[in-house]
Amino acid sequence: MSFDTLGLAEPLLKALRDQGYDQPTPIQQQAIPAVLAGGDLLAGAQTGTGKTAGFTLPLLHKLAGSHPLKDNRGRYAIRALILTPTRELAAQVEESVRNYGKYLKLSSMVMFGGVGMQPQIDRLKRGVDILVATPGRLLDHHQQGTLDLSHVQYFVLDEADRMLDMGFIHDIKKVLAVLPPKKQSLLFSATFSDEIKALAERLLNKPAVIEVARRNATADTIAQKVHPVDREAKKDLLTHLIKSQDWHQVLVFTRMKHGANRLTEHLVKSGITAMAIHGNKSQGARTKALADFKSGELQVLVATDIAARGIDIDQLPHVVNYELPNVPEDYVHRIGRTGRAGAQGEAVSLVCVDELAFLRDIEKLIKRPIPKEVVAGFEPDPHAKPEPIQIGRRTLNGGLGRSGGGGGGGGGNRPPRPAGQGKPQQHARGGANGQQQPRPRSGGQGGAAKPARTGGAPRSAGSRGGR
Ligand code: AMP
Repeated sequence: MSFDTLGLAEPLLKALRDQGYDQPTPIQQQAIPAVLAGGDLLAGAQTGTGKTAGFTLPLLHKLAGSHPLKDNRGRYAIRALILTPTRELAAQVEESVRNYGKYLKLSSMVMFGGVGMQPQIDRLKRGVDILVATPGRLLDHHQQGTLDLSHVQYFVLDEADRMLDMGFIHDIKKVLAVLPPKKQSLLFSATFSDEIKALAERLLNKPAVIEVARRNATADTIAQKVHPVDREAKKDLLTHLIKSQDWHQVLVFTRMKHGANRLTEHLVKSGITAMAIHGNKSQGARTKALADFKSGELQVLVATDIAARGIDIDQLPHVVNYELPNVPEDYVHRIGRTGRAGAQGEAVSLVCVDELAFLRDIEKLIKRPIPKEVVAGFEPDPHAKPEPIQIGRRTLNGGLGRSGGGGGGGGGNRPPRPAGQGKPQQHARGGANGQQQPRPRSGGQGGAAKPARTGGAPRSAGSRGGR
């Protein structure tokens, strides 16, 4: 099947040829006609499946084919709103909008927190057709009266499950409340929990439902491997692998921000160009690190789970789990960074005795064992005893044995489900990485002017959630 048969306008086909895409991916084959037909859509697709083009292309087609609208101040009104959970994803989606729409006369803007409001206000004044935003900053603008959403005709909720994980449900409800009731809505989510279904029921009207195969660890394009190693030898093993195998563009995951910093320092001292990317870094530093990594200037990017979400790099060859995630689903998200859109990729995990229960949970989730390969010179001590892993204020037993198997048995390490909230991972994320803190709820539905800044949720310095 080619893009030509999907009914997209010639300027879009031309942009696709420029990108070098000759075939729509499965999600694109289904989503593009569904969106062009005009109804709501519930789509099950992970990042890496080509979902962004799946909604961006038909939206651009429809916007280009209809008249621009003016708001009550006479400037071009926002007709399409795309909400994403993280800043990085917002930036990438807007970049896709610009890429695919480069031969059309439509304007787009990305809006997220952590940067000044005023440039965004100035940009809004010049008129925007397509706005890509994270929820917090969007609401800030709306509450200040600097954003008019009353002309939105198309609404996309991207990575809805991540949004809920990150505690954005109240923000999403607030956004829904200010959007016009008559609009075409699209909801994309990698998973369909009961909460997602409830959200879909609230948002969508008789949606078309499409689902493509989960791009999880069953993807044949990702070669997975575990290197058993002692805790203290991980740094040297990583350096050894990068140097001996001449790895470039390596995305390395750690569980915690300070771990990312320490590892980065070690790599740099060993003569490897590396930078850390996490929530305590300024937006400028994160953007620069990502750009240098993409261009190949930076050999290694060390990231925590949330900072890495939505990082989209074509044909990323190597993903390393320097530490296994304590939430098994994060493993799938991590390795989904490699082997994308048909390219070959390799996902390597350095696993010490403390993490054996995490590994067991992951293998259970992906329904297959991951091949183990000891690297010569880095053989783990067979008598090593597991030590508990400290994540934020929580202590997890990621090893097997010792204290009687806490942590084993599929999710034994998970914190209890917080009342009225999403998935149990939420605590682990907010507390462990301290990056995308859920917004405090003290403002309630109606919302005090700025509930996020007055509420009592702990925030680490410089951390602003998806804002
Ligand atoms: P996404 O799932 O939207 O994050 O896209 C994953 C990756 O696939 C991105 O790097 C896209 O540029 C790429 N991609 C999207 N559509 C296609 C296509 N039809 N052919 C080849 N690559 C694609």
